[in-house]
Amino acid sequence: MAIPRIVVVGGGAGGLELVTKLGHKLGRKKKAEIILIDRNSTHIWKPLLHEVATGVLDSGLDEVSYQGHSKTHGYKFQRGTLESLKREEKQLTLAAIHDTKGTVLLPARQLSYDYLVLSLGSVSNDFGTEGVAEYCHFLDSPQQAEKFRRDMLDTFLRFSANGDKCERQQLNVAIIARVPRAWSYPQSCLMPPRCCTAMASPLWKTAR
Ligand SMILES: Cc1cc2nc3c(=O)[nH]c(=O)nc-3n(C[C@H](O)[C@H](O)[C@H](O)COP(=O)(O)OP(=O)(O)OC[C@H]3O[C@@H](n4cnc5c(N)ncnc54)[C@H](O)[C@@H]3O)c2cc1C
Repeated sequence: MAIPRIVVVGGGAGGLELVTKLGHKLGRKKKAEIILIDRNSTHIWKPLLHEVATGVLDSGLDEVSYQGHSKTHGYKFQRGTLESLKREEKQLTLAAIHDTKGTVLLPARQLSYDYLVLSLGSVSNDFGTEGVAEYCHFLDSPQQAEKFRRDMLDTFLRFSANGDKCERQQLNVAIIARVPRAWSYPQSCLMPPRCCTAMASPLWKTAR
């Protein structure tokens, strides 16, 4: 008799814990086939992203490989990005995967399921504030954290190259956030507080 297939899309804080528990309880006993799908091949806990962004943490040292983790925890892993979903047919489509030159590595694929869990997380809301989407760095993914780090190092280089001719002697970083975690950002950068302007919501002020 065929066993049910449980597909979990999104291996973040919620999805990874879920497949691990389902894998232990059902996957290892062959009572169900558990499949985790994520667009990345590794998981890094989001609250560590500010450390990746500031270069304090090498993400390669702290990330979990889904492939390796799945092998020891009774579930299967497929890398892919959820593109569309046909609920009536219980089938989802994963987008094609390309290499850095745009060549297709893996074409779009269909996957059927008996039970589906979507744990895709969320992204920051700019509330339509003019200029934010265009000029701000967001910190929702490891890729964005790495980009911030590269841009910050480039900025330091640019400043040092200009030397004494540089008009501004101080680099200002504005942080928009509503969680206490925002405060760890400048601390991770080892920046003196006056170098950093933290703009936070009233909720954050209350939390402090
Ligand atoms: C910088 C930062 C600091 C934080 N600090 C704290 C903290 O100190 N304490 C705290 O409790 N919480 C903190 N949070 C919030 C916490 O990280 C989130 O609440 C939590 O990660 C949400 O878990 P999740 O499983 O819902 O989503 P996520 O952890 O975001 O996981 C979503 C997963 O889905 C995948 N995914 C998304 N779309 C697709 C798609 N279309 N196809 C395939 N895969 C997809 C992503 O790659 C990701 O792996 C912080 C968040 C951020 C960004």
